[in-house]
Amino acid sequence: MGEFDLIRRYFTRPDHTAHGVAVGIGDDCAALVPTPGHHWLISSDMLVEGRHFLPTVDPAALGHKALAVNLSDLAACGATPRGFTLALALPRVDEAWLAGFSQGLFALADAHACPLVGGDTTQGPLNICITVFGEAPAGQMLRRNGAKPGDEIWVSGRLGDARLALEAFRGRVSSAGLDVLRPAMERPTPRVALGQALRGIATSSIDISDGLAGDLGHILAASGVGACLDLPALPRSPQLAAQPRAAQIECLLAGGDDYELVFTASPGHALPDVGLPLYRIGVIEPEPGLRVRDEAGQLLPTSWRSFDHFKS
Ligand code: ADP
Ligand code: MG
Repeated sequence: MGEFDLIRRYFTRPDHTAHGVAVGIGDDCAALVPTPGHHWLISSDMLVEGRHFLPTVDPAALGHKALAVNLSDLAACGATPRGFTLALALPRVDEAWLAGFSQGLFALADAHACPLVGGDTTQGPLNICITVFGEAPAGQMLRRNGAKPGDEIWVSGRLGDARLALEAFRGRVSSAGLDVLRPAMERPTPRVALGQALRGIATSSIDISDGLAGDLGHILAASGVGACLDLPALPRSPQLAAQPRAAQIECLLAGGDDYELVFTASPGHALPDVGLPLYRIGVIEPEPGLRVRDEAGQLLPTSWRSFDHFKS
């Protein structure tokens, strides 16, 4: 199968001229119609085999995740998804793989009315690069730099499950009862509706891809502030709560791949209900740095961040 047959067969759909797409796949450029008074919010994320996923991963899950991590960036900024491009390097034409990959990809794209409008296809080591295009009313994009001392720190959903599932997969923790956490690792849910609902409310926002401590750290650095987190307030699944304490701390604070939103809001500000639990996990402080208080109100030693509690 040639490059053009492959694109037609797996990535072009009869309805690809969706709302707001003046020109989709087939020309040298796509053309999207901007909503008056809005800015384009644009983000790219690349997934490389061996680095971001294993060759054995289910292709449908991979298609889902490749788009999900990009939509998560739009969510963090409060954007409404409008379309995406897909640049794909494939070692060979594997039709079963392509069918699974495109199914997982389009299921999530359809759920967010975010059409595939173009891309590039080439032969090479498996590499998936997606660029998403979203919109927000001018001046309403959520950014990292607006957190103020006294603001409350909030997080959506639950933390640490993706990391715990990964450790179970690697055989570093017993996988008994942890199968239910696999979707957290393989099929993360981007918090797109929450991001949009936080426009005009959140003073700063970021999605958690590298772990709460690191990603909140980006907000603190951009805003020129510090923070204190309340360890017992960090939301966790019963499966994670059943792990040894050090492993819980590792997963909650440095887990990664959570794709929840962490954001700040002025104290007492009413928060939107998008059917997703939101947890108040700490407060912004003037002193730089991130502090974490345990159940007894004691500060955790700063060394926790440099430890990998799963390494044997
Ligand atoms: P060019 O050579 O001008 O870069 P291509 O021949 O690579 O264009 O692509 C032909 C058309 O197919 C273009 O509209 C391009 O956006 C689209 N396309 C190529 N690869 C993909 C892909 N993986 N997914 C979606 N559209 C693609
Ligand atoms: Mg090309």
